[in-house]
Amino acid sequence: MIVMKFGGSSVQDAVAIRRVASIVASRLAEQPLVVVSAMGGVTDGLVQVTEAAEQSELGLACEMLDGIREKHILASVEMLNSAEATAFALKLDARLAEATALVTEIAAQGSATAGQRSHLLTFGEVLSSELVVAAFNALGVPSAHADARKLIVTNARHPVASPLATATREKLMQAIPELLEQNLVPVLGGFIASSESGEVTTLGRGGSDYSAAIIGAALMAGRIEIWTDVSGILTTDPRICPNAQRIAEISFHEATELACFGAKVLHPATLLPAIEHDIPVAVLNSHKPNEAGTIIRAIASQGPSSFRAIAVKRNISVFNVHAPSHVESLRFLDDLFSLLRWHHLQSEIVAISGASASVAVEGGRELVKLTSELEALGEVDFQPEMAIICMVGEDIRGRVGIASEVFGILAAAGINIRMIAQGSSEISVSFVVEEKDAVKSVQQLHRQLFEQPSVTHSHATSAAPHKIAQA
Ligand code: ASP
Ligand code: MG
Repeated sequence: MIVMKFGGSSVQDAVAIRRVASIVASRLAEQPLVVVSAMGGVTDGLVQVTEAAEQSELGLACEMLDGIREKHILASVEMLNSAEATAFALKLDARLAEATALVTEIAAQGSATAGQRSHLLTFGEVLSSELVVAAFNALGVPSAHADARKLIVTNARHPVASPLATATREKLMQAIPELLEQNLVPVLGGFIASSESGEVTTLGRGGSDYSAAIIGAALMAGRIEIWTDVSGILTTDPRICPNAQRIAEISFHEATELACFGAKVLHPATLLPAIEHDIPVAVLNSHKPNEAGTIIRAIASQGPSSFRAIAVKRNISVFNVHAPSHVESLRFLDDLFSLLRWHHLQSEIVAISGASASVAVEGGRELVKLTSELEALGEVDFQPEMAIICMVGEDIRGRVGIASEVFGILAAAGINIRMIAQGSSEISVSFVVEEKDAVKSVQQLHRQLFEQPSVTHSHATSAAPHKIAQA
């Protein structure tokens, strides 16, 4: 079996849901299970409903719930015949009655508990999954609703609960295989779950991808497909390089590294269950279902370049701090990182030598206020308006000459590098340049390393891989 997850924009209206039905129909031989997000905008809408209820604006909250009802009804009447649409409306109204009761409770209290807040947010996926089941059946894809709130078991933490793998697997195994055996497509809402004691929980915003991975791992799916509105993961930001190419395959490690440096890829935390069970994850475009997309898997096959992708993170500032020579380096670093932690600053890249350190953090000129505090540790030089560029590729591990190749390209373009770091996993090289040079840097690197890979990059020459880029 396979798991197919469709995000909010893929189920945002009747046109989108019809498209989803035809994509799923094309996969029936693989026994798909479908996970859907709330219709686009509905979860945000429910956040606003909660806020209105907390201000005891019950009328406004109910009006907003009505708007959400309309969105589902509108889509349903475009896809269902009148008997089917009536049956769906009855179900919808029963669900919305639960939501209204909850909203009324919150409004009476004047504030929502963390549990009530999570509970209210789950209605987006509850409603979308009911709508999608009705639509599938009307459009000739036999399917059955499975309530994710009864099948995904988590701890009771709000608003981001953690799944309990064994209990979840047991419940899914009781419910799903029998639906698949009857050739029905099980449809579940993503993002939503319950604690062991039955309290409704969520996996946190954007959690539907995570649901798909949890379900895929529990049922040992052959593949997890994440259907979005982009054609997979690209070699770099297409707004910077219009020639950015689709990455056919990328490893879990590479995807993780890219996400850390701001690339728009699936968040690797959400893929963890898939990684643990070595289940390939495909990122596909529901608007262009015939495009190949990107496969994320444990070991990805070689691409056209030694590097897999380039990520850029802007709005970076660098602090260079030099402690006086008598200061013990461990003590100095301890103080430095305590201070950053105190200000909730995460170090993106760190370079240390003895009792001096360069730290790149996210933020702009406003961080200058930290300078005076850091001066307690030593001499400080503050450099705002920087950007981090991160080059990722498993294939660079252990390769001689990779750094000189990258920095040679930048030197030839007259770009000054402010800071360099190689990830300890040796699958990435990151460096800091001035923000004004970021676009040019990425364009040069992409042009030379991705758009015209020389023969030396090709694995046809893998008999002598270490010769690469030594020139
Ligand atoms: N509907 C939820 C959200 O908007 C979960 C998801 O779409 O993944 O955050
Ligand atoms: Mg999403």
